[in-house]
Amino acid sequence: MSVFGHHEFDGHEQVVFCHDADSGLKAIIAIHNTNRGPALGGCRMWPYASEAEALTDALRLSRGMTYKSALAGLAMGGGKSVIIGDPRKNKSEALFRAMGRFVGSLGGRYTVAEDVGISVPDVDLMGEETAYVAGATKGGAGDPSPATAYGVYMGIKAAAKHKLGSDDLRGLRIAVQGVGHVGYYLCRYLFDEGAQLIVTDIAKDSLDRVASEFDAKVVAPDAIYAADVDIFAPCALGAVINDDTLPLLKAKIVAGSSNNQLAEAQHGEALRQRGILYAPDYVINAGGIVNISHEGPDYDEAKAFAHVAQIHDTLLEIFRRADARTLATSDAADRLAEERFRKPAARATEAA
Ligand code: NAD
Repeated sequence: MSVFGHHEFDGHEQVVFCHDADSGLKAIIAIHNTNRGPALGGCRMWPYASEAEALTDALRLSRGMTYKSALAGLAMGGGKSVIIGDPRKNKSEALFRAMGRFVGSLGGRYTVAEDVGISVPDVDLMGEETAYVAGATKGGAGDPSPATAYGVYMGIKAAAKHKLGSDDLRGLRIAVQGVGHVGYYLCRYLFDEGAQLIVTDIAKDSLDRVASEFDAKVVAPDAIYAADVDIFAPCALGAVINDDTLPLLKAKIVAGSSNNQLAEAQHGEALRQRGILYAPDYVINAGGIVNISHEGPDYDEAKAFAHVAQIHDTLLEIFRRADARTLATSDAADRLAEERFRKPAARATEAA
């Protein structure tokens, strides 16, 4: 298994393989880039079929964090860790303590938070061994979903301004796919501004709640793509923009919280060609990490949310650049991120 020659290797600074015989911990910590500051990123626990699969995830996800932090304007770099194991069977106090010690051994180059398969009590255990944890019970910023939803709301307003000429959402028809943690708070912002909501979910209780609280019209999960709306906000699953769904979309804007919305990178260009404005997922859904970056004894929610609101202007800049260069917004976002995290020397070499 090659690391430097791996297809997801992208000049990563450090890749650490961690093993603790007593607890059975097998983990990989990947630090992609720290030019803007120490790396921050979640820890994922997953029953990877192979070590190669775990490495692929660690390399890919840590790189994504560099781009996300750079466009969120954070003085942070990108990192991510993966624990090889089944979160339903293989969790133990010793395992997370050992992981915390490995994170601590990096001396602050990487701060760990929760991700798929990891919950706050697990982060708390890692926090017993190292100060480099974010999102723990003690001193943590709490549930990231309200901040994420606020960022998505501000991003939808930016997209409406760019595509429809006004950021006033009153009377606009907005389809929200998934009304879980983020979707629920998003619906509340949109309803309060006077948007008409069309929603779907596979959980009936979540749907009933938004239907009654926000006067939302409920449609079946498969019907959401073809809904006659101005804006489509995916807040459930990844890969929802694909060859099957693209021809169905009537929305002029796609802007929601889901990670990895494009099934393949080329679907960003496909959206552009259909005249649909896409708010790149990792830009619009950064509210949670921005909020976490403010945590600590001086945490001030108003200040953190004002920072989250900057997603609005970042997206406007991406939309303008994409138009000026006839680029997909997803490509314009990547380029802007690269400008922000690459050292001037590296940029100069590249341009030469
Ligand atoms: P969640 O699990 O609370 O909500 C997801 C909702 O989608 C659930 O209600 C679920 O029933 C529904 N759903 C699942 N399959 C569906 C389908 N086929 N059709 C319609 N609905 C379906 O998750 P969340 O925290 O609200 O996150 C939503 C998305 O946003 C995820 O992709 C997540 O990775 C991303 N995200 C979340 C945050 C955050 O702060 N929570 C931050 C960044 C990105």
